[in-house]
Amino acid sequence: MKDMQRSLDRPLVLATRNPGKILEFRKLLSGFDVDIRSLDEFGPIPPTVEDGATFEENAYKKAHFTARVLGLPALADDSGLVVPALEGDPGVKSARYAGPGADDVKNTLKLVRAMEEVKERKAAFECVIAVAVPRGPALIYEGKCEGEIAKVPAGDQGFGYDPIFYYPPLKKTFAEMSSDEKNLVSHRGKAMGELLEEFGKVLIWLRQRLAEEPV
Ligand code: IMP
Repeated sequence: MKDMQRSLDRPLVLATRNPGKILEFRKLLSGFDVDIRSLDEFGPIPPTVEDGATFEENAYKKAHFTARVLGLPALADDSGLVVPALEGDPGVKSARYAGPGADDVKNTLKLVRAMEEVKERKAAFECVIAVAVPRGPALIYEGKCEGEIAKVPAGDQGFGYDPIFYYPPLKKTFAEMSSDEKNLVSHRGKAMGELLEEFGKVLIWLRQRLAEEPV
């Protein structure tokens, strides 16, 4: 008999096309008997409009939209960098801070410039993971990592704003850490840790919610 805390009789879809994220989630949930699929396995699906005011809203939108379109449970995450001295920017606009189609270098440069004259340099990376079923209910997991915006970029690991996110307890930027070192303290590492800890219960919750769905 299947272990109810460790299996699901339907695929769980990762609502992303980012190969790095797919690999990370597959690795994280590898101890469970769950068929994990990525969006790429389902052909063309319209992208979710990420116009929410919070990470939670965007993570939920992505997970719920995917679940509704495919009729399967779905998992999505949303994350970004919040700088209180800039009224929360780049925040939910982190990926497109320097404009539509902006890349990591342009976004980072814009933030370095915006912070040039700013004394209060506190910042936090935030990550929200949502697990949703087609009818709408969802579970939410969150992680946060507090640090500071460095004046000068340092390090060549990671991606995004890593070279200017200084983490005081380790006296390094995220770009100066190995991926294992970063995962232990990062917003995404913490949110994933929380999800993993609860995943047995998540599977029970998913089975119950899916049983309530109309056929
Ligand atoms: P996403 O929602 O995880 O795709 O992330 C949105 C944006 O936030 C990314 O394009 C990055 O600019 C930024 N971001 C999120 N997490 C990190 C991180 O761990 N390091 C650096 N930048 C990040």
